[in-house]
Amino acid sequence: MLTITGQSISSEIAIGMIRFYRHKKNIINDAVAADPDAELSRYQVAYHTTMEQLQLLHDKTLEQIGPEEAAIFEMHRMLLSDRQFHHAIVHSIIQDHKTAEYAIYSVGEELWNRFIQMDDPYIQARGADIQDIMNRLLFLLSGKKESSMDATEPFILMAEDLSPSETVQLNSSRLLGFITRQGSPYSHTAILAKTMNVPALMHIDIEEAWDGHMAVIDGAKQCVYIDPPEELIAEYRSKQASMVKERRELQTLKELPAVTPDGHRIALYANINTPADIESAVKQGAEGIGLFRSEFLYLNTQEYPDEEVQYHIYRHVLERMPGRHVVIRTLDLGADKKSPYLALEPEENPALGYRAIRICLNRPELFKIQLRALLRAAAQGQLHIMFPMITSLWEIRRAKEIVAECKAELAEEQLPYGDPILGIMIETPAAVMIAEELAKEVDFFSIGTNDLAQYTLALDRNNAKLHDFYDPHHPALMRMIRMTSDAAHTAGIPVSICGEAGADLSLTETFIRMGIDALSVAPNSLLPLKRTIREMSFH
Ligand code: PEP
Ligand code: MG
Repeated sequence: MLTITGQSISSEIAIGMIRFYRHKKNIINDAVAADPDAELSRYQVAYHTTMEQLQLLHDKTLEQIGPEEAAIFEMHRMLLSDRQFHHAIVHSIIQDHKTAEYAIYSVGEELWNRFIQMDDPYIQARGADIQDIMNRLLFLLSGKKESSMDATEPFILMAEDLSPSETVQLNSSRLLGFITRQGSPYSHTAILAKTMNVPALMHIDIEEAWDGHMAVIDGAKQCVYIDPPEELIAEYRSKQASMVKERRELQTLKELPAVTPDGHRIALYANINTPADIESAVKQGAEGIGLFRSEFLYLNTQEYPDEEVQYHIYRHVLERMPGRHVVIRTLDLGADKKSPYLALEPEENPALGYRAIRICLNRPELFKIQLRALLRAAAQGQLHIMFPMITSLWEIRRAKEIVAECKAELAEEQLPYGDPILGIMIETPAAVMIAEELAKEVDFFSIGTNDLAQYTLALDRNNAKLHDFYDPHHPALMRMIRMTSDAAHTAGIPVSICGEAGADLSLTETFIRMGIDALSVAPNSLLPLKRTIREMSFH
């Protein structure tokens, strides 16, 4: 057995087979084909082989596991043989002279995007199936050995690196956890894993030879065991069982308020990345949504989604949380979150670069699409809109002007719109230092401790080498949170924390003492946080 240590932010456990993830982009070398007929026959061979593989997998699973699990492969066969999907690929090869790989990738990505933007969670989940099928076809075409690609069982994913856009595409129903060489626990990829409730271990010296081997991830000990003996697996299975039991017991707190024994009430909200996360937020007793990172919806789209698409998504979120607190953050793209349609140029210092509100203010035509969709959705219920990465007063004033322009346009077009509550993220030291002035411009603050730590401590949150220096308890950070809280309360507006530190139970008492009004955390952190608050004894 090998024991390898890394870095994680959750204490989850995963037990299962490792599957090595190869980046699709590395497989697709060329977009244009010299010989379309040859490409077509390559695709046809891959298509038929995949159909056969899926049939075999279906039969094997039916015999060894059960009809419900086997049905997945039947469904994949149906999706793959869908005439429109098939014809779109063939068209791309023959008419547009694309390689088989490129045709599969582009048609599959487009379909995936359409699926995940649907209101229906069942259809959204089919997006992950499309990814599975694409992977299968692409690996066949690559001619590489794929020892564990046919895993019918859930797996631990191993990769050199995983970008946030790749992570949102993973099929979470079969993902037990992941280990990567690159990345850090405060990256968006790790935050996504936390919302998916799987452990992510980063900064691991991975080896391709582990593909297909058994492993155990211990998030609390921040290590992974490769080829663990049976006794260790049994020990971890029993640990997992007690964690499940504890989680079940925590459910008794679901309907109870987050109130300290001396009667101090604090609101607990959930951070979500896609509308599908609302389900777990509700299950874990969220009082509302404190942060919907809207950009995750649009990370992988080839084009920026139009107003109508966005309107339906935001409206759906409000409808799923009737009468509750809902905060939707405007686009926070850039830095580690790159979208093809933005065509962002490579930058020397992306975290200090063209990002979030800076892009939106520079490209009002893009910003307005989202704002108009949000304003229209706000006609359905009380909505909070939050602007990220504010550093200067003029930015929020300009953002408010653009909101006003959008309202005027909608009124002229006689389209119904609401009057959302406007707030900002406090996640730069500059915003902390001018918090008193900012508080006069907006209705609420939410402190983004992930970026506030990054910018205050002058360290890249995605750089695994800096993990030992990334200290969410740093006194500078604590003082900044207190200053923000004081400034908010002097102006009479509420302040919440929506960064990862909000879920750090060793900081809960400090935050309550500072007067923080609400904490917004990943759905699975809600009940442990509520228990801590309800059992808190001040000293
Ligand atoms: C933060 O910076 O703390 C935050 C909540 O936003 P994100 O993690 O998406 O940057
Ligand atoms: Mg941030």
